[in-house]
Amino acid sequence: MTTCKCDNCDWTGDESDLRCTTAETPHLKLRIDAGATVPAGECPACGCLAYLIDEGTGTYTVMLLRPDYVTGGDLETFLTSAKADTPQKAVDAARLEAMTADNVEEGNAIDYAVLLVIAGEHDDLTYLIDNEGVK
Ligand SMILES: [Zn+2]
Repeated sequence: MTTCKCDNCDWTGDESDLRCTTAETPHLKLRIDAGATVPAGECPACGCLAYLIDEGTGTYTVMLLRPDYVTGGDLETFLTSAKADTPQKAVDAARLEAMTADNVEEGNAIDYAVLLVIAGEHDDLTYLIDNEGVK
């Protein structure tokens, strides 16, 4: 599923809904500047050029180790998924989420050690933790 957006009106939709594809777009060379982003095709609503929406972000699954002052010395993890454009930003978001969840007012985000950062959403990790005792 690819989502496109019209440059002129507020139409957004799937690439397959475009009036025509890039290759079929009439007078394409006259309609875009050299070096400009190549459009995905023509907007079905108004016929202007439509472009692929730059997602720019991905989903990362982050597993953190809660600090001792939260768990009282037990090994406890915090697992979440965050949308971010870099893994580091996903970690930052996850740490903030963990601190909020744990009501950590004082303390540092870096107290939450990063155990794992992987691209995508991985619900099965929760299963693994619950059932295999991976903490
Ligand atoms: Zn349009």
